[in-house]
Amino acid sequence: MANKYFSWSFDDGLEQDKRIIQILKKYGIGATFHLNSGLFGVRRYISRIGNLGMHETPADQFEARSFHLLPASHHYRIPKEELKAVYAGFEIASHTVGHVNLAKCSEEERKRQIKEDVDALSSLFEQEITGFSYPFGAGAKQSRDALSQAGIRYARLATATGSFSFPDDPLNMPLTCWHISPKTFQTLDQFIREKPQEEDMFFLMFAHGYEFDFGTKESNWEKLEKICETVSSHDDIICCSISDAFRMHENR
Ligand SMILES: [Zn+2]
Repeated sequence: MANKYFSWSFDDGLEQDKRIIQILKKYGIGATFHLNSGLFGVRRYISRIGNLGMHETPADQFEARSFHLLPASHHYRIPKEELKAVYAGFEIASHTVGHVNLAKCSEEERKRQIKEDVDALSSLFEQEITGFSYPFGAGAKQSRDALSQAGIRYARLATATGSFSFPDDPLNMPLTCWHISPKTFQTLDQFIREKPQEEDMFFLMFAHGYEFDFGTKESNWEKLEKICETVSSHDDIICCSISDAFRMHENR
């Protein structure tokens, strides 16, 4: 029989990840965290309109800028010395050294942003880094060679398709759902109802930790917990990191 996999994918390595990890552990759920090795400890604020985080502001410039009147969340990245303990037991994946738009980099810079991030993360966390997510969801077309050369086996975009399939092209992997979607539970219910026949099924859920601090109808900590409670309560859903889902899928 085919299997059903559910993975969370969290970007940027933020202080909110500590609270996320408490919730994941409570429900026994694996996940993947995509970090930028050149930005550990950097503190910014992120403004938002509705459910959309829209502008990062350095902490020391925050009060001086007019858009501080918009609601904002902390975008504080976890300092390097805490990282290993915080993320113990979870998959670490690359997100470039400096959170750059890979579509706008030179070939040389693209290679450096990927290779140096993979090297830094694998030595810091003492785990093989095979996962990646594109900052701003950009640059998939230009980055294939650099990703393959760095040993990356899957790379996540930022576009949601609602699909429950493993991607045909793992270096061009869309999301199933961004947690802030009003259709999150509808999509999840459909995933729960469907029974895999020949093909394995895969639900990839995406979030940034700061989004849960918004406290809006569609983006809040209770919703995160409800999603985790829902998927973990179904014995036929394997809740694991993205690389574990790929590994089990490929070895079946
Ligand atoms: Zn990011």
